[in-house]
Amino acid sequence: MHDYGLSSDEVVLVECENVTPKDKKAFNSSGNLVLTNKNILCATFTMFGKVKNVDRHPVSDVKVFDGIVQAKLDLRFGDNPVMNIYYKASQVSYMLTDNVKAKEFVKQLNKLVTGNDIEIESGLTAGAAMLGEALGGMASAFKGAFGIKEKEPEKIVMPCTGCGASITGIKGSLVKCEFCGCTVKLT
Ligand SMILES: [Zn+2]
Repeated sequence: MHDYGLSSDEVVLVECENVTPKDKKAFNSSGNLVLTNKNILCATFTMFGKVKNVDRHPVSDVKVFDGIVQAKLDLRFGDNPVMNIYYKASQVSYMLTDNVKAKEFVKQLNKLVTGNDIEIESGLTAGAAMLGEALGGMASAFKGAFGIKEKEPEKIVMPCTGCGASITGIKGSLVKCEFCGCTVKLT
């Protein structure tokens, strides 16, 4: 456990590692993004792994709209989700490296601030599409920086293993033949 300089009644709820924060200016050095019962901490480390600097935002500084905390998760980049947190005075994007932790972070933060549970869909959270637009070029910059390519699903045609009829579908998917009812894996 790192020494984040927590107060005596402060506990860690979620800890995300290898997080790169980005404000208006530039990418900052990566570190840990930590949700405690009081603050959102972004800690950087020395080359020896000691905590160098902790950037602190009280959770009460995160905007709430319509009963939902304004921490938007954009999951389009697979295992490199982007979390945009709207603080009252600023807005910071965090590039994460763990989908599960990212979702947990948003859930717990929402629960902490609003007292409510939210469901996070596997695709985008509400408002994420809007966020994508707002990020515009930055989103593609993220993708470029991490070598993530968007792939078009490849469509192929295969003869049905049951009756020989042509079956069209996305490569790798299971398709039920409309003639004989066989399920065929398109490979
Ligand atoms: Zn068939």
